Amino acid sequence: MALIVHKYGGTSMGSAERIKNVAKRVAKWARAGHQMVVVPSAMSGETNRLLGLAKELSPSRVSTAYHRELDMLAATGEQASSALLAIAMQAEGLESVSYAGWQVPVRTDSAFTKARIESIDDKRVRADLDAGKVVIVTGFQGIDPDGNITTLGRGGSDTSAVAIAAAMKAAECLIYTDVDGVYTTDPRVVPEAKRLTTLSFEEMLEMASLGSKVLQIRSVEFAGKYKVPLRVLSSFTPVDIDVNEEAVSGTLITFEEDEKMEKAVVSGIAFTRDEAKISVLGVPDTPGIAYQILGEVAEANIDVDVIIQNVSKDGKTDFSFTVNRNDYQRTIDLLKEKVLPKLGAQEVVGDTKIAKVSIVGIGMRSHVGVASKMFKSLSEEGINIKMISTSEIKTSVVIDEKYVELAVRALHKAFELDQA
Ligand code: ASP
Ligand code: MG
Repeated sequence: MALIVHKYGGTSMGSAERIKNVAKRVAKWARAGHQMVVVPSAMSGETNRLLGLAKELSPSRVSTAYHRELDMLAATGEQASSALLAIAMQAEGLESVSYAGWQVPVRTDSAFTKARIESIDDKRVRADLDAGKVVIVTGFQGIDPDGNITTLGRGGSDTSAVAIAAAMKAAECLIYTDVDGVYTTDPRVVPEAKRLTTLSFEEMLEMASLGSKVLQIRSVEFAGKYKVPLRVLSSFTPVDIDVNEEAVSGTLITFEEDEKMEKAVVSGIAFTRDEAKISVLGVPDTPGIAYQILGEVAEANIDVDVIIQNVSKDGKTDFSFTVNRNDYQRTIDLLKEKVLPKLGAQEVVGDTKIAKVSIVGIGMRSHVGVASKMFKSLSEEGINIKMISTSEIKTSVVIDEKYVELAVRALHKAFELDQA
């Protein structure tokens, strides 16, 4: 008998019929002798619907007071789905109780709409489990030190589930979703993409931050910090499949890096179209330039990703970096207003039609020539690389957006990921 946490995404909770299926699946695990904590998302579309209503009512959307209400509002989505699931569990003949984040409590900081979990009190949940109940805890939400309801950012139920699994020292946290695991790349782009049976935690962290949308990045960080074994699996397999079979399906994100993992030089290819490139041209090449440019950007709370600086002969340099596409205009305006005059730089230019493609694999640590193989494969397709960045287990390139699918397909083939 083990303590297991299940997390169900919005699609899995999308209708009364689907909630009934979730209840049947959880009941199967409970009857196999496990102590079950279940963390559901809101029914699909519900969070968007609620936030859409708020947007209709408020033209100015900047104040803390407004964000507080957004959390008060959005948290109701998970409260409803959790209660519905508890009702469905009871109809399955199991004792079940649901709790909102504040009732557990799941304590967070006060950053409305993107709060971070600080601690979880597991007493109440544990007492219910010991009394034989299936416990449902709302995803996505908590309570701040002043007693306000907070939410954890879009996709935050993943993080709730992992945090609860960590707090309760669960044997495993199973993330049920509408795909059956983590793939070598997006199967919509490469139909030959293969499901990975295991992936190291570090690789998952890179994949999540590089654009694979399977898990919220914070949930992976949390899993890493507290060493929570995570499994991503489908909630659309027949509910009556054997529990032992289900327990080994999907993709396991593990902390044990074995030989097989090292052998696969590249495990996956991630890509994102979320970024935009900005270049400040004709900057004097003197100490402190990077700081003067990026310091202003950081001050405005804008995240910078890939950075390059080219030195030219006449003592001037071009400085380029990428930001999230949503921050593009704001960054350009800021540079024109504050940085150009100060630096005496000539011009700011930008490009929003870029994409970032990355190869990820812990095998890159022990193999040489991986990046050059990537560059070769891109050059054979006639794809121009605009920027490059690397870390121990990944290489990313920035290219024209129109080549992203071609690049991903070529790399998937070059690294033989279709043969896994
Ligand atoms: N319901 C929230 C959202 O749509 C949280 C989640 O589903 O993980 O972002
Ligand atoms: Mg999600």
